Amino acid sequence: MYPQIRLRRGKEESLLRFHPWVFSGAIDHLPDNIEEGSKVTVTDFKGNLIGTGHYQIGSITVRMLDFADTVIDKEFYMSRLREAMTMRRALGIIRPDNNTYRLVHGEGDFLPGLVVDVYGNTAVLQAHSPGMHFDRDIIAQCLVELDGAGISSVYYKSETTLPYKAHLDPQNDYIIGSYNGDTAIENGLTFRIDWLKGQKTGFFVDQRDNRSLLEHYAHGRRLLNMFCYTGGFSVYAMRGQATLVHSVDSSAKAVALTEANVALNFPDDNRHKAFAEDAFKYLDDMGENQYDLIILDPPAFAKHRSALRNALRGYQRINARAFEKISHGGIVFTFSCSQAVSKEQFRLAVFSAAAQARRRVRILHQLTQPADHPINIYHPEGEYLKGLILYVE
Ligand code: SAH
Repeated sequence: MYPQIRLRRGKEESLLRFHPWVFSGAIDHLPDNIEEGSKVTVTDFKGNLIGTGHYQIGSITVRMLDFADTVIDKEFYMSRLREAMTMRRALGIIRPDNNTYRLVHGEGDFLPGLVVDVYGNTAVLQAHSPGMHFDRDIIAQCLVELDGAGISSVYYKSETTLPYKAHLDPQNDYIIGSYNGDTAIENGLTFRIDWLKGQKTGFFVDQRDNRSLLEHYAHGRRLLNMFCYTGGFSVYAMRGQATLVHSVDSSAKAVALTEANVALNFPDDNRHKAFAEDAFKYLDDMGENQYDLIILDPPAFAKHRSALRNALRGYQRINARAFEKISHGGIVFTFSCSQAVSKEQFRLAVFSAAAQARRRVRILHQLTQPADHPINIYHPEGEYLKGLILYVE
């Protein structure tokens, strides 16, 4: 048993249905002098045990690690990581031609607050909660001991993901090992990954399946990859025999990374060009009928609920431009990775954009995150990536 947090009467219900978060309003009693990031035992108002979790200050006050009286030690993390690994093996995504995958997806792997992406021999560990931050050394040790994973270096990258008010001052650095190459292989394509400075853990592993679908649709088409970052979609489009690929990102570094990744896979191929420009400006300025396939994969426009209205307007505006200008019989891949935007809200924004552009638009596919970003069935909030493939006449 750890220091006990008692809930108010009736506030245990969502936890009895295994929802992994305790909100601040549910709490009746907090132990004295409890420190942020510590392990706690959660009970109902009568003192009956509900489970064990990590405590933090904020609206989500406890992230539940288990619904039992469990010791959170190395053995606990090892067993959760083994389960995560067994599941990834079942997916068939760990192969010589695919060494890049998400091993731990927070609540989806019953480890709220923790993300681990694997790039060959390197695991990039990201803590989203103070509790995971304090446990990072044990978790890193487990990762290198994990059978069959082949992990020899663990890089910690939590400078931007930990609650700012917790004053933890995490340093991005290797916990174990050191730099041992920076290439990731995804479905036989090679990418240079900048996990030291790049966004997220260095690569957007969550678009793997959607990139494969893009490859399927690229044949013979002139393609615009808007918000290209590392150029993932562009490289797949080249292999899918697009006739022309234009990649756009407002960040000059992203444009350079895209160019490097295209050159790595398709040296001396002049079908590709990349531009460092603002998306809204590029879409406003581009000509009609210039592209037959447009990908819109913007950053999370709404990081918080308060930004929702503006975010929806942003989605509507970029999609409207794509619909207005794409060729007849063109295809749009459009995404939202904002957790605060629901599937219905996103679809409504895209619907409004289609109506605004006065084009006939049909939904061909509804996309989401891949299976190595699983959604805990008791935690539907874990479904964050939404996408549509549209046929535009
Ligand atoms: N599609 C990418 C991920 C996109 S991440 C992939 O598959 O890997 C979002 C990207 O949008 C970032 O690289 C960021 O630099 C870029 N970005 C953010 N705001 C932008 C803007 N206003 N115009 C163009 N690019 C922008």
